[in-house]
Amino acid sequence: MRFGKLIPMLLLLLLLPCCHACSDAGIEMTAGECAVSYSVDLPDHDFLLLSFTAPNETGKKVIYAPDGLFEGEIALRYSQAGGKVKLTINTLDGKRQLASGTAALPAASDYQEAKGKASGKVTDLRLEETLGGVRYTFSCAGTDYLLLKVRSRQETALFPVYPREDGQYSGEIEMPLTYARTMITVQVLSGKQTVLTEAQARKGYEAPPAAERQEGRLSGVTVCIDPGHSENGRMVNEPLGPGLQGSTSGTAGMAQGKETQRKESIVVLEISMALRDELLRQGADVVMTRETQEQFLTNQERCQVAADGGADIMLRLHADTRAGSTKQGFSVYAPLHSDYAKAVADPPAYRAMGEMLIDALKTRVGYALEDKYGLVTLSDQFVGNNWAQMTCFLVELGFMSTPREDYLLSHPVYQQRLAEGLAQGVYEIAQYRGWITE
Ligand SMILES: [Zn+2]
Repeated sequence: MRFGKLIPMLLLLLLLPCCHACSDAGIEMTAGECAVSYSVDLPDHDFLLLSFTAPNETGKKVIYAPDGLFEGEIALRYSQAGGKVKLTINTLDGKRQLASGTAALPAASDYQEAKGKASGKVTDLRLEETLGGVRYTFSCAGTDYLLLKVRSRQETALFPVYPREDGQYSGEIEMPLTYARTMITVQVLSGKQTVLTEAQARKGYEAPPAAERQEGRLSGVTVCIDPGHSENGRMVNEPLGPGLQGSTSGTAGMAQGKETQRKESIVVLEISMALRDELLRQGADVVMTRETQEQFLTNQERCQVAADGGADIMLRLHADTRAGSTKQGFSVYAPLHSDYAKAVADPPAYRAMGEMLIDALKTRVGYALEDKYGLVTLSDQFVGNNWAQMTCFLVELGFMSTPREDYLLSHPVYQQRLAEGLAQGVYEIAQYRGWITE
């Protein structure tokens, strides 16, 4: 064989695998009247971001597949006239598109275009939160229909609504892709899509009922879980801690998701609920400082709940933020010089326990994280640590300023992993302190 032929062939062989890896994978799609199902194999991925665009609706959600085989169905509730749906799948950091696909939608068999008078003076638009989205009511006399345009950070939709005989409009809008306590904007539009009025409300949240406590390896241990912040902060002035000089005033600023735009307070509340249930299943007794988004407590009040509940340990759950950085990872803060902290444990013991928590978290979720992930800091900076009369840690569970961790912190599978990691940390600390002897 002459080299003249061999070299182009070698080049081709070298180029082929690269081209294959660079092009995004096709998604297998099947479109029905009001849903599209999808399937795509993306080995080496577990959490990804799925986005779709259809004629009257768009949406995005984090999808999870432990084995890289992503399958599911997306409901298309507002595209009854047919058209095309486009799906794309990206990494959570938004930096790589891994797969895409398009499918034609059949028109719904009972689809009829809205007709008649579709403009007038809209009055009394009111929104009320529901667990599924929002409920709306408004009046617009003499109209046959109007359009509603709804949007949140996760989904949008445009659809006609029809009045009762008295000209009153009312109904419920389901927003299944929208996270709890996320803002929803509802606009009332004329048939020609002129905005007539608009209003905003948050999607509702209700804490799930507590799991049943079982006998287990944590039986005899009482844990206070303190979900950081609350939906709306308040100005408070609190002494720094017993035996410490000074005070803090103002509101504690909270993190907000760079992509989800969720408040730290709701994300850590959801994770706290997963932790509560995990601890109960392992035999612990659990005291919660708050179970709603609205409830406001000062740091000292939080510590008092823990003391009144007879807690052996208090875990204060937070999420971090660092503007303009892509920092990820855990941090654990323990108190140092307050009289209460000194009575609980000396600094080396506190550091050892903090490292147990960090290591347990890293082990449980560390599959995609770097080794250097996680820091233990002993400091006097947190009022809510200084006033704790029991073993106490503030745990920063990840950075909401980094898209990947922002999305993960709101995903139930990841939330459960955090809960299991924290429960393991509590177990090791309970052994170390001699609260349990196994
Ligand atoms: Zn916080």
